[in-house]
Amino acid sequence: MRIGIDLGGTNIVVGIVTNEGKILIKKSTPTLVTRGAAIIIDDMVKLIYKTLDVSHISMEDIELIGIGVPGLVDYKSGLIKECVNLGWGNVDICTILKEKTGKKIFIDNDANAAAGAEFLFGTMKNHLNSVFLTLGTGVGGGIILNGKLHRGINGSGAEIGHMIVGENFYDCACGNNGCLETFTSATALIKFAKKLIKEDPQDTLILKNTVFDEIDAKIIFDCAKQGDKLANLVVERFVKYFAIGICNIVNILDVSMIGIGGGVSAAGEFFMELLISDIKKYKLFKEIPVCYIKIADLGNDAGIIGAAMLDIL
Ligand SMILES: [Zn+2]
Repeated sequence: MRIGIDLGGTNIVVGIVTNEGKILIKKSTPTLVTRGAAIIIDDMVKLIYKTLDVSHISMEDIELIGIGVPGLVDYKSGLIKECVNLGWGNVDICTILKEKTGKKIFIDNDANAAAGAEFLFGTMKNHLNSVFLTLGTGVGGGIILNGKLHRGINGSGAEIGHMIVGENFYDCACGNNGCLETFTSATALIKFAKKLIKEDPQDTLILKNTVFDEIDAKIIFDCAKQGDKLANLVVERFVKYFAIGICNIVNILDVSMIGIGGGVSAAGEFFMELLISDIKKYKLFKEIPVCYIKIADLGNDAGIIGAAMLDIL
């Protein structure tokens, strides 16, 4: 058995995971970001022991502990180099956790961990060359090459959400303009829908379903499904740039599958046909079939499962 930890900006989630990638139990606690690294790591340790306690599993039965972090991580040294959400820089979380648990500690970027889980146990299983994209508040990415995570020289590889794919009406949180995540995240869908509504407050189903401030990605997709013109303009733009992003990935890596996770992927059945059609439009070698594009299997658990398996990824 192993322990996988998802260290998020909102919650810390600890899971006990079997060697076959099944979560036996998971527990969470709020991250309480303002209290700083030392206290948050302390909370994490308490949650680890609490999770073991309630499941009657001893630390002796745990092979290793892996952590997925939303930031720049050095997999080899175990250092969190930069984590904007948590306000952390150069935090040696592995040394502290090793002292407090006596276990080997592995650490990686959270999207890498999720990609690893989908590759080992989920939708990308057996796809030795594949890419995972998670479309949520932002866009995260993980690249599997020859059956291993591709982390890059500095651990900063696979930042696919910040691949520049066009010009946009607002800047990305990273400071650049035109990043993929400003077109294909839930945030991007909401911002563009609000922009269209403000410019031309037409008779849209979106506003019949909710108030302006509470527009979310699900409402936009639901309205598009019902034939709403404005919602469909938003979805068409999302699909166009998603297709461009996917074609860029395929042109560079020529992978056999792209797995799509995150909240926006819930609408996958609705946008998949449009997406494949746009990919065919933008792809370079028309005679090569489009790679598999599938909605991820493991949902929110992917980060915990992948973190627990970081030693083999
Ligand atoms: Zn960016």
